[in-house]
Amino acid sequence: MRFLIMIGLIFALAGCVTRFGGGEAGRGSDVAATRIPNAVRVLREADGWKAHFHFSDDAAIWAFRRSALLRNGQRPWRPASWEVLTPGVRLERIGDFDAFVARDGIVPRQVTIRFRPLAEDLIADYDPAIILSDGRFALYGGHFSAFPMDARATLAVLSEPADYPTRVAMRASGVPMLFHGQRVLEVDDVGDSYVFIGDVTLTPEDRVATILDPGLPDWIMADLRDYTPNVFRAFADQMGPHKSHRPTIIASWAGTKFKGHSTGGSVSPGLITMRIEGEELLKVTPASLRTMRWFIAHEAAHFWLGETIGYTTPDDAWITEGGADYLAMRFSESTDPHYDAGAFISSARTDCAVSLKKGSLAEARRRGDQRAYYACGTLFALAVDRAGRGRGETYHDFVRGLIESDADRKVTSAEWFAAARKFGVAGPAIARMHALVAGTPDAAAAIDALMAVDVQPTSSVSALAIAATEVGA
Ligand SMILES: [Zn+2]
Repeated sequence: MRFLIMIGLIFALAGCVTRFGGGEAGRGSDVAATRIPNAVRVLREADGWKAHFHFSDDAAIWAFRRSALLRNGQRPWRPASWEVLTPGVRLERIGDFDAFVARDGIVPRQVTIRFRPLAEDLIADYDPAIILSDGRFALYGGHFSAFPMDARATLAVLSEPADYPTRVAMRASGVPMLFHGQRVLEVDDVGDSYVFIGDVTLTPEDRVATILDPGLPDWIMADLRDYTPNVFRAFADQMGPHKSHRPTIIASWAGTKFKGHSTGGSVSPGLITMRIEGEELLKVTPASLRTMRWFIAHEAAHFWLGETIGYTTPDDAWITEGGADYLAMRFSESTDPHYDAGAFISSARTDCAVSLKKGSLAEARRRGDQRAYYACGTLFALAVDRAGRGRGETYHDFVRGLIESDADRKVTSAEWFAAARKFGVAGPAIARMHALVAGTPDAAAAIDALMAVDVQPTSSVSALAIAATEVGA
């Protein structure tokens, strides 16, 4: 999530942590549904924040489903934030997971920790907390979710977390909170979402709940306040209403210790978070403005492609990430005469080809190459857009059609291809996209053929190219 200066280009590695629809948590849910969920109460008490775990089963180990490492230093974050208060229980790292282990025998059914909300960047997962300069903060519920293991040796070699239901409730001793766009005093079931703790002024007419860190530079505040509702309005005009509750945006300011500038963030149901930092952002520059706006447009697009209609497996993240990138590109193009869509497409093309040399698009996340979903997915969206051009339709109309025709709010790659065919994408182009998803020894040729027609947008003005990286958490 840092800006890197590379050969004169600024690549904004704007990390967009997302997870839409399927994935590991979806597997085994029939089994999980029959279990009594673990209950976790997260409370602000007189001596700090605590989480009281009530496990519904006996186990030698309770491992945390989300156990990503800190980006800075690549170490577990929980030891820096959590203190186990229950005697005989330790927090340990076993293989790829943080876990509660008992000094001997099984972990007690009741375990209490005290924690300090930690606003640190995790690798491909949601930051545990987002803290604003005035002390208000948002806390992520998914990090309290654990699954049982019998033996250390089994956990040590486990690659994907097991599914186990957890119900996380949250209360802040009378301090108001914002959850799913609504002001509340307690939340019964946080799920994989953030809860914002602190007062927020909202009127019922606000289409977007915008929570801005008072420490943010003034120009960023002003821009976020004006630009964000515009993006949502435009997307709603182009694709119809999204199916989430009132979107919330939380933008935090992480200060000027970093000399350049950096924008990172995430999207979870109904919520976009942004972490903005860097000395360069104290003054307005076209590049930094463009980067921030790009980030908002990409994340806003996820309210349609992601939340209103999602994928069934993270292997198909090209549907949502490529689509969100493409929509952000088109929006930027329509609002900024200096925006260089040509450069954007050309870097997507290069990155897609480089990635698919190593394997299929579907497998990209397993080789740690999330960028492929954005890059190749952008090209696929462009192919669709071009198919509609002759009759005045755009990729937005395609997305609107996907939303209208899909009952279960999830689109498989097969459904996407069928819809693209119906939208007018020619058979050979469909076959090439298919081949790229499944893997082909000659990916570069397939990409060249897919892009062979009229992909020559505007002149090259901007030196800004954006590569958003994401792992499906
Ligand atoms: Zn994204």
